[in-house]
Amino acid sequence: MTIHEPAPKPVPLIPETAPFSIEQRSWLNGFFAGLMSLDHQPGIVAVNGVPDVAAKALGGVGDDAPWHDPAMTIAERMTLAENRPQRRKLFAAMAQQDCGQCGYLCESYADKLASGEEQRTNLCVPGGKDTSRMLKTLIEAAPTATAVSVAPTEQAQELNTPPAGAPGYCREKPLTAIFKSSRRLNADGSEKDTRHIVFDLSATGLAYEPGDSIGLMPSNDPELVDSVLAAMKAPADFPVGGKTFRDALLNDYALGLAPDMLFEFASYMVGGARRQKLKTLAKGQDPDGDAATFDVLHVLETFGPMHPDPEAFLECLDPLQPRLYSISSSPLATPGELHLTVDAVRYTASARTRLGVASTFLCDRATPNAAVNVYIQKAHGFALPADPSAPIIMVGPGTGVAPFRSFLWHRHAQKAPGKSWLFFGHQREATDFYYRDEFETLAGSGALTRLSTAWSRDAGKKVYVQDRMREDGAELWTWLKSGAHFYVCGDAKRMAKDVEAAVAAIAEDHGHMSLAGAKDFVTELKAAGRYQADVY
Ligand code: NAP
Repeated sequence: MTIHEPAPKPVPLIPETAPFSIEQRSWLNGFFAGLMSLDHQPGIVAVNGVPDVAAKALGGVGDDAPWHDPAMTIAERMTLAENRPQRRKLFAAMAQQDCGQCGYLCESYADKLASGEEQRTNLCVPGGKDTSRMLKTLIEAAPTATAVSVAPTEQAQELNTPPAGAPGYCREKPLTAIFKSSRRLNADGSEKDTRHIVFDLSATGLAYEPGDSIGLMPSNDPELVDSVLAAMKAPADFPVGGKTFRDALLNDYALGLAPDMLFEFASYMVGGARRQKLKTLAKGQDPDGDAATFDVLHVLETFGPMHPDPEAFLECLDPLQPRLYSISSSPLATPGELHLTVDAVRYTASARTRLGVASTFLCDRATPNAAVNVYIQKAHGFALPADPSAPIIMVGPGTGVAPFRSFLWHRHAQKAPGKSWLFFGHQREATDFYYRDEFETLAGSGALTRLSTAWSRDAGKKVYVQDRMREDGAELWTWLKSGAHFYVCGDAKRMAKDVEAAVAAIAEDHGHMSLAGAKDFVTELKAAGRYQADVY
């Protein structure tokens, strides 16, 4: 649950007079709330106002679902879910990011599929084809499970707050924001094209807080759409579902990695070796190692010519999904505006440049004053501490710095007295030190107490944010002991894991703990809501 809506007044289970430190009391409250399954009851929350976190670490999702870790591969997750009921296997198949892009959390999406209330198996954007394929396989293997009725979880409702399902706060009811500008943040010579994106929200009345994300509905690249039409020799104005075929391809359907159904469909239109290859690809096999190159256009061009009926063709495609980005502005510092920090995704496959749909929509195709459908995705356990005097440590390499720019400007606007320490890392200081001038301003005003940087490609040896953390381990340990909240944002698979290992190593070295004790310390920080991650 997010902690942004008016939080229920905490009813701690451990009395204030009990002989524990604030940290210990917070942890114990979380522990007992989790143990007694009270974490969802109104009014009973951990002292710090983050009810789910304790239960997750100590008896809720995390304990009961060892696969709930975005750094694990799908194979590892499915192994952990073996011999579990269908709904838990469905849960393990999700990407475990609880990002909300599907309109649920990972667990509640699984529950909805298991109960049959949700039929779509292709909603998990970060899980991509691996997840949708696994969900389909699981449901085909145990179709009776769809009859199982599962009580609706509170999580699905929580994602739509505030208020539940209101326009502008859920993917089903977006509002129109105005795109203002896209400014490149890297200097010439950088390998990255990272943009500072500005939206005008003033006409929407939308409210957000640091840690929240924005969901936006991109449209496809018109050049790609026209190439698909040309490959099919289909008329752009062919009517489908009340609009033209071209409009449907532009706005409603994903043209990225080809769905298995498209391979299957195409296999009926060709013969010989091409048919066999398509059948193999439709089963999720990849004997030639080229499955990842088959976007929709590449299927048409490689296995064609084929001229499918437009309506039947569209039925084989996945819906174009909204994309989520962490908000990098503060509503207090820049009221009415919303900023993002976005890497343009462009790469070459099979001699053609492929474009990330939403990132290149924002960086290349959106024009000033264009209307874009958006909604606010409230954060799920990722927010500034309620107490503005609590110290914060933020680790955000690359675009992972986005929410921390928001945190810092927010605290600056609040004149918050709490200390703050940012670890930022990127490839090269000369080209990729974005927001440098802003960080200098924030440091000058006292809103940013310390800035530690790590440049991975400036020296012969890679230097990463966790190396800087270890170098300053003694001081970082002092901050943690004095109640600092720790945040990490960015890559889930490697960076976030390594950063967590660095925190444990610092606890080992400077807290004189065993490795097991140090890991428990990190678990306790998480349980107390003092270790929060926004990782992709
Ligand atoms: P990136 O280029 O992937 O990496 C930034 C820096 O981190 C580079 O210097 C890189 O070094 C270094 N790095 C590589 N492996 C690392 C490791 N194991 N530990 C620590 N540092 C490591 O950055 P990016 O493209 O900006 O992407 C950052 C991540 O943030 C992405 O996964 C993105 O999805 C995620 N994210 C973005 C947002 C947003 O709203 N924009 C929000 C949340 C998360 P080398 O490449 O030189 O090895």
